[in-house]
Amino acid sequence: MGRLICVDAGHGGTALGACGNGLKEKDITLKMALKVGKLLNECGFDVVYTRTKDIYVSLSERCRIANSRKCDAFVSIHDNSTANIVANGIETLCYTKNNLAYYIQ
Ligand SMILES: [Zn+2]
Repeated sequence: MGRLICVDAGHGGTALGACGNGLKEKDITLKMALKVGKLLNECGFDVVYTRTKDIYVSLSERCRIANSRKCDAFVSIHDNSTANIVANGIETLCYTKNNLAYYIQ
């Protein structure tokens, strides 16, 4: 595995993401992304963020940031919601089959 990770905080700015219980997904993903990036730094990885504050970043710009820096992995953080009150857990989606998704899960 490479050493440069792009950490993408989902949504941001006018793109609120899921909202409920007084929370906005964009705020939670940003806090999580900054924490994940800090932990990755402490483990010896270099980190590129697609955003570090509450701003809107288009999907194409997120890709441009990661590709221009030739990141070895792109990790996009989301906090999904559902109307199903018994649903819970996490999901990890990956573009290619590799061990990264396994370890995240
Ligand atoms: Zn989302």
